[in-house]
Amino acid sequence: MKRLIPFLFFLSCFPVHALEAPQIPKNIILFIGDGMGIAQITAGKIVKGRLNLEEFKHIGLVMTFSQNDMVTDSAAAGTAMATGYKTDNYTISMSSDGKPLKTVIEYAKDVNKATGLVASSSITHATPAVFAAHVDSRKKHTIIAEQIATSGIEVIFGGGWQYFVPNTTAGSKRADHKNLLADLAHSTQVIRTEEEFNNLGDVDSVVGLFSRGHLSKANKRKPGLPELTRKAIKILSKNDNGFFLMVEGSQIDWAGHDNNQDELIAEMIDFDDTIGVALDFAKIDSQTLILVTADHETGGFAIHDGSINAKKVTESEFTGSKHTAEMVPVFAYGPGASEFSGIGDNTKIGKTIIKYMKQAL
Ligand SMILES: [Zn+2]
Repeated sequence: MKRLIPFLFFLSCFPVHALEAPQIPKNIILFIGDGMGIAQITAGKIVKGRLNLEEFKHIGLVMTFSQNDMVTDSAAAGTAMATGYKTDNYTISMSSDGKPLKTVIEYAKDVNKATGLVASSSITHATPAVFAAHVDSRKKHTIIAEQIATSGIEVIFGGGWQYFVPNTTAGSKRADHKNLLADLAHSTQVIRTEEEFNNLGDVDSVVGLFSRGHLSKANKRKPGLPELTRKAIKILSKNDNGFFLMVEGSQIDWAGHDNNQDELIAEMIDFDDTIGVALDFAKIDSQTLILVTADHETGGFAIHDGSINAKKVTESEFTGSKHTAEMVPVFAYGPGASEFSGIGDNTKIGKTIIKYMKQAL
């Protein structure tokens, strides 16, 4: 006892958190707002008022350059986040010398976590593709579809059924007779309509492709990105080992390319509403890390005038119609969030997620 008293005094000199083991998240939800720079977020805040993003206390910035270009595309930036490595533009989770790079989804499967991809684009589009495929060009949609179909990812929601049906089906973009949806139907639930989505029972896995190509715009999508994300979390959270889910707000980027301020703001608010769905889950669950970031900024967007009180942006400008090299923000919430503060590189996102997956072993 005489020895124990000084030891207890010694312990009491340290704050409690210094003695706790570093927090490893059980679940990770990665939100990627394609083309979502600081000005896009600012416009969303002006019009929406308060953003769900304001709940995030750990915020950092990352450089987005790719292996071969200071200005990245979604494939190279997505690969950095999905694998922790830089690659050339247009490349889907392969190194610039053609070697496949292991993705966070593959690491998640090593530790028996459930996995999911949700996007408002075709599911074969660059950002979701980097989490499920290894291909030397983002344009090879039919090959990406084949790899997605055999990936074993439990929840897949997006568009793009044209790459999954045989060339004998009207609307197919395949050159062969492969019917990937029929193949998938042997092992998972395959759905194509809003009605099937609403009637989905208590499943453990599902592939929902709700459009021939990309999903509709923010105010017209049915089911919407928030509903798709809510359902994905509900299904994936049944796994006792946890899950990894990537959700992409794909069309913020396209509004930037089109220099369309109103569509940009509508997509931005829809994306923030979707983040709110994940926050609702994470607040109760308390074992979930939520990350929100962008692959790059698009359009060189700037806000010149508007009204905070009237919640309006009245004057804005795009410096071009392409991606820019600006740093993009990373917002982190939940266990493990503090790692993402400060200025870093986009590979840090992939590397840190993979570190957490390995520590879950
Ligand atoms: Zn783009």
